[in-house]
Amino acid sequence: MRVLIVEDEKRLAQALGQIMEEQRYNVDMVYDGQDGLDYGLSGQYDVIVLDVMLPKMDGFSVVKKLRENNISVPVLMLTARDEISDKVTGLDCGADDYMTKPFSPEELLARIRALSRRQGDVVLEDIHWADLTLKLSSRTLHCGAKSVSLGFKEFEVLKLLLANPKGIVSKEELIVKVWGSDSNAEDNNVEAYISFLRKKFFYLGSRAGIGTVRKVGYHLEEN
Ligand code: CA
Repeated sequence: MRVLIVEDEKRLAQALGQIMEEQRYNVDMVYDGQDGLDYGLSGQYDVIVLDVMLPKMDGFSVVKKLRENNISVPVLMLTARDEISDKVTGLDCGADDYMTKPFSPEELLARIRALSRRQGDVVLEDIHWADLTLKLSSRTLHCGAKSVSLGFKEFEVLKLLLANPKGIVSKEELIVKVWGSDSNAEDNNVEAYISFLRKKFFYLGSRAGIGTVRKVGYHLEEN
């Protein structure tokens, strides 16, 4: 497993690197946000551990730029501040998980294992439904010869709908799984992303649609 550590506190970075090398992970370490972005853009990592407060470019901007460049590597953000707003900002920018310093090495390793498993699920296969194919590695949605790329949240919302093709996915489930249980996302956030997805289905000329069950949730439908 290849891990990139982006952390300007060199002693912490080296301690983290040592813990991971003991697990036989292949570790690269960089000490500012610009280097973190440049290394991350290489696309060769299984997990990136990214500090928030960094010289040259903060961690939020790094993860946002990685996602804009279709780099889907799982990102675990680190911060010294225990603030929910940081967590929400991080997850909104496209981070996958979040840890507040100080933390135990065991917890860090457990989170990294969980993230790399998630990535493993992601790389394995594409999801097909009706005339649509969702390519997990590139976060793109295809229908016939047309394709469109999905934003992080559009992708996560669609994945949940596809995971439950015969049932209804509730707004609560979408909020908890896509925005996180302690986020302040509301029903209208979900509605906005459902409407983005409907527009993309329409653009692709797909016969797939997303039906609304009032006060309950959403389901996929074929027209
Ligand atoms: Ca820092």
